[in-house]
Amino acid sequence: MPKWILECVKCGNAFDYCRISDDTMPLELPPKPDVGNGGQCVCPNCCQSAIYKRTDLLYRPESMGMVSDRDAVFAAPKDFVNLLSRLR
Ligand SMILES: [Zn+2]
Repeated sequence: MPKWILECVKCGNAFDYCRISDDTMPLELPPKPDVGNGGQCVCPNCCQSAIYKRTDLLYRPESMGMVSDRDAVFAAPKDFVNLLSRLR
């Protein structure tokens, strides 16, 4: 499920703000929700509490989950080596 995420102002950790329901059009970016609770969110990584604005919300499509982002970083060198070996 796609979601809105926030990036921690202190440690830069991206964490979920809310999930986006699947009934939005696949190619349409859903409108950003209003940040409730005065915009105050707590980073689950470093417990830093900060005020976030609606414009701080980042869209994260389902196919780009945080785990697969990390996998992509680890996978990149191996793919690069494969590419090099194919060029030789
Ligand atoms: Zn943090």
